[in-house]
Amino acid sequence: SGINFDNYDDIPVEASGENVPEPVVDFTSPPLDELLLENIKFAHFVKPTPVQKYSIPIVAHKRDLMACAQTGSGKTGGFLFPVLSESFFTGPSEIPESARGSYMRKAFPTAIVLAPTRELATQIFDEAKKFTYRSWVRPTVVYGGSDVGSQMRDLDRGCDLLVATPGRLNDLLERGKISLVKVKYLVLDEADRMLDMGFEPQIRNIVEGCDMPSVENRQTLMFSATFPVNIQHLARDFLSDYIFLSVGRVGS
Ligand code: ADP
Ligand code: MG
Repeated sequence: SGINFDNYDDIPVEASGENVPEPVVDFTSPPLDELLLENIKFAHFVKPTPVQKYSIPIVAHKRDLMACAQTGSGKTGGFLFPVLSESFFTGPSEIPESARGSYMRKAFPTAIVLAPTRELATQIFDEAKKFTYRSWVRPTVVYGGSDVGSQMRDLDRGCDLLVATPGRLNDLLERGKISLVKVKYLVLDEADRMLDMGFEPQIRNIVEGCDMPSVENRQTLMFSATFPVNIQHLARDFLSDYIFLSVGRVGS
C-alpha cells in the first residue's frame, strides 16, 4: 500500500461538516511558517498530499478533525505541519507560577501526539525532529517497555511536542512528571489501532486531563485508517464541531 505520488491528486476526498475551509493547493498558500517551509524543502516534500491539503487549513482555522486515510497517505505531515506552524509563530509558553520551584521538574507540553506502538511513536518523533530543525520547539518521545528514568531525563531537557504511547503517558502523569495544563493540540494517530490494542481507558483519561479551562480552544485531531463504530463513538465524545475527512476508499 502507500500513496503513488505521481497521481495522488486523483484520489477522491470527501470533506463534511460546517464551513469546511478550502484546501490549499501547495505548501505556500496560505503561508505556513517560513522556517517550517524551509524544513519541508530540506525533506524534499514538493507538494502536499490530499490529506495535508485539507488538514492544514482545517487546523489553522482552529477546527477539530476526524481524518480517515490509508497508510502512506501523509497523515503525519497532516497534523505536524499545521501544529508546528502555529507553535513556531506563537513561541514558547510560560511555565505556570504554581509549578516553579517544585522539587521535581515537570514537563508542560503544548502538543501531544498519541500513537499505538513504540515503532510508530518513534517514526513520528523522527519526523518532528526534522520539521522542528532550528526552531524553539523541542520534541520528545516516550513509550512503554523502555527505561522510564531515561525518558524522564529526556523530558527534563525540555518538551513542547510530546509523542507518546497511551500507557506510558498515563504512567508519567501518575508520577507527576508531565502536566497537561498547557496542551493546546491533542492528536490521536492510528486511533483504530489504539482501540484494538485496548488503550481506550488510557486515552479517555488523557483526553479528560487535557480539558483545561486555562487553555483557550484546545483542538483535538483524530486520524485513523478505518472508521468502525467504536471510532465513530470516540469522535462523537472527543471532538466538537469537527470536520470529517475521508481520503480514498476507507473501510469501516
Ligand atoms: P501515514 O501516516 O498516512 O501512513 P506518513 O505520514 O507516514 O503516512 O507518510 C508516508 C510517507 O510519505 C513517508 O515516507 C513520508 O515521509 C512521505 N511523505 C508524506 N508527505 C509527503 C509529501 N507531501 N511529499 C513527499 N513525501 C511525503
Ligand atoms: Mg501514520
